[in-house]
Amino acid sequence: MAHIFSYPIKRALLVRFAPGDDLLAAITAVIEREQAIPAVFSVIGAVASASVGYYDQEARIYKTLQRDGRFEIIACNGNSSLKDAALLIHAHILLGDAEGACWGGHLMSPTTIFAAEMHLLELDGAAPERVYDETTGLYLWCS
Ligand code: ZN
Repeated sequence: MAHIFSYPIKRALLVRFAPGDDLLAAITAVIEREQAIPAVFSVIGAVASASVGYYDQEARIYKTLQRDGRFEIIACNGNSSLKDAALLIHAHILLGDAEGACWGGHLMSPTTIFAAEMHLLELDGAAPERVYDETTGLYLWCS
């Protein structure tokens, strides 16, 4: 059965990130400073290197894929919530190369911003907590 959390939108933010910064760290810093928890966000732009994770569902570990090179951020979506009462950002990113070929995964560091814009919707209410889930080995939202 799905866990559904319902919120009104509290505010919307538009953010331009600084070139050279790490994308995940930059997203985290803005959300921490603005205390935008819970929130959902989307980022578009370009990166000068990227690291993504692939969750091996059988081994229950993240495999990391790191690539140098310049890529478009075709899409990057994520959210802010809590794990052990602390902020946790969860984001996925789809990157495109010079031929338009795409790759991506779970956003990780280091991912170096070339230029990036975020739109963020802060939600009004208590953030869901992530709790360890035996079935997946992941920390999932629990009511
Ligand atoms: Zn993920």
